[in-house]
Amino acid sequence: MSAHPLILIIEDEESLAALVGDYLRAAGFRVGHLARAEPALDWIARERPALILLDLMLPGQDGLSLCREIRARDALPIIMTTARVEEIDRLLGLELGADDYVCKPYSPRELVARVKAVLRRTGAPSDAHGPAALIRLDAERLRVSHGDESIVLTAVEFALLAALRQAAGRILTRDHLMDRIYRDNRIVSDRTIDSHVKKLRRRLGELLPDVELIHAVYGVGYRYEEPESPVRGAGVTVTE
Ligand code: CA
Repeated sequence: MSAHPLILIIEDEESLAALVGDYLRAAGFRVGHLARAEPALDWIARERPALILLDLMLPGQDGLSLCREIRARDALPIIMTTARVEEIDRLLGLELGADDYVCKPYSPRELVARVKAVLRRTGAPSDAHGPAALIRLDAERLRVSHGDESIVLTAVEFALLAALRQAAGRILTRDHLMDRIYRDNRIVSDRTIDSHVKKLRRRLGELLPDVELIHAVYGVGYRYEEPESPVRGAGVTVTE
């Protein structure tokens, strides 16, 4: 990959595209912009961007159908952007294969951080389960280890962690997590998931005090992600 990865912004709000473009360039990326979906496939085939920021609502062909078309051809990382937080749940349900979802209005700084995170993840897809993984899970003993240290979780906490880690890098909705941890269909509220996650994070904090492994995605759910290591980020060079 080039030292200055090319990011394609597909966004019909010109001022927003310009603002995001400025932030991306300041972070060391090259930037392309299209205001419509129709020319995107040709553009992508020609320019080979490293990642696409794709607006959901576009005049003409919408972001959903373009996302499907891109996915049918290659595994290019895609971050979908949408003005409606409720829409994200539906998008996740459609399993479009986008790598992340960002709700408008977003801070350009946050968006740049997401772009970097997705590039790290997709540049090293096997890391979460590879030898570099930070923690080891022992399902029989409900034990989580890091180096010589270990903690023992409750069955629910362990199931939550296992589900999130298995999907490392992807957002799991509260509904999905509830399905995974309550096989007996007990009624639990969203807040219950939140409180289990809160306890799980606190327990993981005993093992890894300075590391956040479980990230809340506002209004949507949670994502497991191990922090960047110097080796892991080597495929993408960005200067700030
Ligand atoms: Ca739009």
